[in-house]
Amino acid sequence: MEKARLQGLVDISTVDYPGKVSCVVFFQGCNLRCPYCQNPSGISPYGGEEATLDDIKKRLDEAFTLADAVHFSGGEPALQWKAVAHLADYAHKSGKLAGISTNGTIPPAISRLAEKLDFIAVDVKAPPTIPDVLGRTVGLPSRGEEIAEKLLKTLEILQSHSRKTEARTTVVPGLNDKPEHIVAVAESLGKIRSIRLNQFRNTTTLDPKLREVQPPSREKLLKLAKMLASKYPDLKVKIWTIEAGEEEVTP
Ligand code: SF4
Repeated sequence: MEKARLQGLVDISTVDYPGKVSCVVFFQGCNLRCPYCQNPSGISPYGGEEATLDDIKKRLDEAFTLADAVHFSGGEPALQWKAVAHLADYAHKSGKLAGISTNGTIPPAISRLAEKLDFIAVDVKAPPTIPDVLGRTVGLPSRGEEIAEKLLKTLEILQSHSRKTEARTTVVPGLNDKPEHIVAVAESLGKIRSIRLNQFRNTTTLDPKLREVQPPSREKLLKLAKMLASKYPDLKVKIWTIEAGEEEVTP
């Protein structure tokens, strides 16, 4: 019987799948080491617990009495793309939607999954055109070029799915918070015309040094977002902060 390794499952969320109540499946394991990761226990491929796909589907059946969608998160769900594909199909058979949050660095998996998903949140953690900044932002400084290549490939694949895709960038002071970084991220999006800038949070981080770094203020995120909104009038720009949640920003 097919299995997946999960951190857990949350029956009801209003923040993961835009505009829908979703059930969230958190997959265990990640191929990146972002120093600001808020979920360090989800990184090891050996953590979490194994569950059969049949058991997960039973949990989905219960959640679907209230949820309109399932959202796959992590860790990095694309590492277990076969399970994601199976569960996305199951959601559709149950008359529900399926979405994913991915770090965008496993293009073969995204290419298999994109058709099956109704919403794709892809991290563009730093500009793929500045590999040293990207490498440091994902905690793999010696592999910036390789990660950049993979992210570019993913973004290329998602050009055909741009209407259901949103880019996400967590703004981390000292890593990727310069205006030129944010502009270069926007420049990499092509037909993807939606981006959300997320506020870095310092409560739990993979690298303890990041706990000393103050989160960027809502005003700083607003300023960066307004800059994008005025430079790219066709780009939908949002921010997410602990103070105010998600906000759409206009110039
Ligand atoms: S923040 Fe980075 S290390 Fe943490 S789960 Fe996401 S991609 Fe992986």
